Amino acid sequence: MEKTFDLIVIGAGPGGYVAAIKAAKLGLSTAVIEYREVGGTCLNRGCIPTKAMLHAADLYKEIKESERFGIFAEKVSFDYSKIVEYKEETCSKLREGILSLLKANGVAMITGKAILEKDKTITVFHNNEVKTYRAHSIILATGAVPSKIPVKGCQLDGVLNSEDLFLLKEVPKSLVIVGGGVIGVEMAKVFSSLHTKITMIEAAPRLISNFDKEIAQSLKMTLKKQGVEVYTSSLMKNIEKEKDGFLCSFEENGENKEVSAQYVLFAVGREPNTHGLFGEGVTIEMAGKKVAVDDGFETSLKGVYAIGDLSSDIQLAHNAIAQGIQLAHRLGGGNTTEDLSVIPSCIYTNPEIASVGITEEEAKKKEISVKVGKFIMGGNSKTLISKDERGFIKVITHGESGIILGAQLMCARATDMVGEFVTAITNKLTVDDMLKTVRPHPTYNEAITEALEEVEGQGIHVLPKRKR
Ligand code: FAD
Repeated sequence: MEKTFDLIVIGAGPGGYVAAIKAAKLGLSTAVIEYREVGGTCLNRGCIPTKAMLHAADLYKEIKESERFGIFAEKVSFDYSKIVEYKEETCSKLREGILSLLKANGVAMITGKAILEKDKTITVFHNNEVKTYRAHSIILATGAVPSKIPVKGCQLDGVLNSEDLFLLKEVPKSLVIVGGGVIGVEMAKVFSSLHTKITMIEAAPRLISNFDKEIAQSLKMTLKKQGVEVYTSSLMKNIEKEKDGFLCSFEENGENKEVSAQYVLFAVGREPNTHGLFGEGVTIEMAGKKVAVDDGFETSLKGVYAIGDLSSDIQLAHNAIAQGIQLAHRLGGGNTTEDLSVIPSCIYTNPEIASVGITEEEAKKKEISVKVGKFIMGGNSKTLISKDERGFIKVITHGESGIILGAQLMCARATDMVGEFVTAITNKLTVDDMLKTVRPHPTYNEAITEALEEVEGQGIHVLPKRKR
């Protein structure tokens, strides 16, 4: 037996490493075990690399289109290997930062594959060495891995998941993306900007099906405008190897179709990673594929907790982080005020998409009386200055009290602006509370004021209804 800690965290993704640092700050002797890179999916195969690629792709597109601002750039091109290098450099800097934070806070970093054994004991395998540790509390934060669906041919070499896609050394000439969720549409945005011919096949009647209906429809139109071929209500049936790629057979509303592409990407969701996590004789209660936890993140094993993608319905980095901080506070005796029931979702397409709280559709289904304020960004000066894609901000308020219940944004900086609505919903603010704020001019944020005013039809940069 190596050592007994107050807390051992398995997995150094955003949930795990943040929980470990917070616990150490609160005085617990803490270790974190990781068998790949610190930062987990988010930093190495998820949020950060996709956003770096999106940044480069956006910049390329913006420079190419700069003539509309009177700026002329000749022979604009890109070198994909340099884009990958920039992405890697960004991730590497962030990894170094996490490692030094763990060290500076006195968190022991243990490298290896961890197995949870009985009696809060953990075995760690690394380079043919086996070590055993014990802890008073254990947090499982092993995240999720790409899901698979049983389509004939999906195991062929060249049929990729999001992790494989990052390893390509070339920009695909053509790509079929199976799945029109957040990961699928962000990848479509990156590679269509870099001239890949994209075909997207989504089984549901609309893309990003858990977002506002109007946003989903606008996104489909925007993607089509960017040259992406989008098929909804469509099922991938068969993938066959061809000379230069794959022949994909699918069914759109019962009609058989085919498309050829150099690569196929499956972006059909992610499932909790329990692979090899539990030792002999360790049985833990599951909720489907997730590890089951109570309100305090405790599993069916006393003193063993689970957070993040491993145990949550919402698979987002900020959800994992918030859970990690809250749990560390519980174990370390600190106070936390974060409200984990209000979690925003963002998509970094162009325009950006962000959503928090309920949508108009959900309110109708739940028979909640609501008033909706909507402002079209065409009336916002910053949007016109930047010649951004058209978009809107929609705010959903309680019909009687005026309390903010939800907001959906599809516009430039939506992913930053949604923060105002998260604060509002968390603190049960009303439209009047939010209208107390004077927002600076010219900014995108001014459109929040207009959307709030529009709840009562009082927006300034909106034509009165009778004159429209
Ligand atoms: P993970 O980040 O998955 O970390 C788990 C860690 O545990 C991993 O490092 C793994 O190696 C380690 N591990 C697993 N088993 C063991 C073991 N037995 N022993 C030791 N170590 C182990 N979320 C957002 O909020 N915003 C985004 O923009 C966003 N974009 C994304 C884009 C893509 C392409 C993908 C795939 C995901 C994206 N996500 C995004 C989701 C986000 O990455 C996850 O929600 C987040 O990483 C979950 O954090 P976690 O700590 O629960 O798990």
